[in-house]
Amino acid sequence: MSYQTLRLILWDHLSHDISSLKGIDPKRDLVVFLETIEEAEYVNHHVKKLAFLFSSMRHFAKELEEKGFPILYIDIEQEEGSLTSAIEKILKKTKAKRLIVTEPGEYRVLKVIEDWKERFEIEIQIRPDERFFISTEEFKEWSLGKKKLLMESFYQFLRKQTGYLLKDDGSPEGGQWNFDHENRNPIKGDIDPPEPFHVEPDIITKEVLKQVKKRFSKHFGDLLPFWFAVTAEDAKKALHHFVHKALPHFGTYQDAMRDDQNFLYHSLLSHYLNIGLLHPKQVCDAAEKAYLEKKVPIQSAEGFIRQILGWREYVRGIYWLKMPHFAKENFLEAKRKLPWFYWSGETEMNCLKQVIKQTKEQAYSHHIQRLMVTGNFALLIGTLPEEICSWYLAVYADAHDWVELPNTLGMSQFAEGGFLGTKPYASSGSYIHKMSNFCQNCRYDVKLKEGEKACPFNYLYWDFLLRNQGKLEKNARLSMPYQMLKKFSKEKKKQIQEDSEHFLNKLENQ
Ligand SMILES: Cc1cc2nc3c(=O)[nH]c(=O)nc-3n(C[C@H](O)[C@H](O)[C@H](O)COP(=O)(O)OP(=O)(O)OC[C@H]3O[C@@H](n4cnc5c(N)ncnc54)[C@H](O)[C@@H]3O)c2cc1C
Ligand code: SF4
Repeated sequence: MSYQTLRLILWDHLSHDISSLKGIDPKRDLVVFLETIEEAEYVNHHVKKLAFLFSSMRHFAKELEEKGFPILYIDIEQEEGSLTSAIEKILKKTKAKRLIVTEPGEYRVLKVIEDWKERFEIEIQIRPDERFFISTEEFKEWSLGKKKLLMESFYQFLRKQTGYLLKDDGSPEGGQWNFDHENRNPIKGDIDPPEPFHVEPDIITKEVLKQVKKRFSKHFGDLLPFWFAVTAEDAKKALHHFVHKALPHFGTYQDAMRDDQNFLYHSLLSHYLNIGLLHPKQVCDAAEKAYLEKKVPIQSAEGFIRQILGWREYVRGIYWLKMPHFAKENFLEAKRKLPWFYWSGETEMNCLKQVIKQTKEQAYSHHIQRLMVTGNFALLIGTLPEEICSWYLAVYADAHDWVELPNTLGMSQFAEGGFLGTKPYASSGSYIHKMSNFCQNCRYDVKLKEGEKACPFNYLYWDFLLRNQGKLEKNARLSMPYQMLKKFSKEKKKQIQEDSEHFLNKLENQ
């Protein structure tokens, strides 16, 4: 077989309008899909995530084939090596002299691809990923001359640019830009959130499940039940399901957690968005339409659009602005290894146990579970940023470097010293107690501050502030806790440090 150009489709490039397919000539161009062992194994990816990615790739390849594009699909059983070794073999066979690809969502992969130009002496065309509201160049322009890159001002900038939830006179629907304060209600009494949208595995998915089970048996997570959509058509049905069944309550309970409810009113759309089965515009349009038709209240529509138009675009802009040194940041000089229970779920702290159990079963947890339970604990004990980042990248079906890294390293671990968040998301057990029912079934007592039975988050929180006093005391948003800390007696501080040390020693010996 002889082709002039390879059109490489990476596992998060599964959109029919992807830039790498533009202008394709089916007589001269070959569309290449690679499932390589190196990509599958470079972190301990959740098996459900791998099955989701491979099955979605195979379905997308089939759709392109039905359109008449020549396809070369190398699956996991055929390729033991890396992207580079696979491309080398394909170039030899096809004699192609050019490779076109859309920019990858990971700096590491970008560097790998750029290296092919010299290594294989071919032309490499890396095209922009246009599946976002704002390009990385436009983000850079927006950031120029700004001392602080605040998400809120970026979000308002994009609201004005796109016109979402704006009245004819340019003012925001509902009279304000942001309804965040109405998105923080805990759940009181009985609730009945909808089941997430389920898709039965078809013959392609069943084959993938068999291969993943065989090949990645040592990886984290439960493969079954597998209910994710793996095509754009089914992902669209999942969007419709969310907008009609869950979005009306999304705003109110966005930050709530329950041990008997994995998904509450969240959309479960991030994994589809991040590989291109859904387009962010399609998703925001659907939410806005539901608001204009009076099917959802403003705090739900705005709260949801803010996550996608605001946070999602913002973290992507930050990632490409700050890489590669971003990944190495460790402002708080954290040194501790990630506790083993993050992989096993075996801990007596019920909040962590429940969130890790759900993560293992579903390759999913919602934002507050990630930020205020697993993220908060890792921050309080001073976990090495690279270890906690690897964990997040591995365990969630939606995890890709451009979105995982800013959220974990920046927002959750404060490792870049306040660029993304104005203060660390550190909290004692009281926040978890307020927002969830986890504490009701815990061996620890959230009301106790010291001693064997006290909730570890309580003393670890103060220990964190004491340990990082030199770096954090001047942070205006932490002035209240540091004022409180000043009033603590010497004995009280000593007790906090002893309880923390005792707890952390036990943790290390587990
Ligand atoms: C430590 C940490 C790590 C994270 N890692 C990832 C990750 O690897 N991939 C990922 O997509 N999200 C990540 N997030 C953001 C957020 O937790 C997930 O997007 C969300 O939980 C996905 O579930 P959902 O689709 O039900 O979201 P919903 O709660 O229904 O929110 C709607 C959509 O908004 C977008 N969104 C919301 N918050 C964010 C955010 N902070 N950054 C980017 N997009 C956002 C997502 O596309 C999501 O689908 C992380 C957050 C934290 C605190
Ligand atoms: S008591 Fe503490 S450790 Fe237990 S669930 Fe509550 S916050 Fe978590």
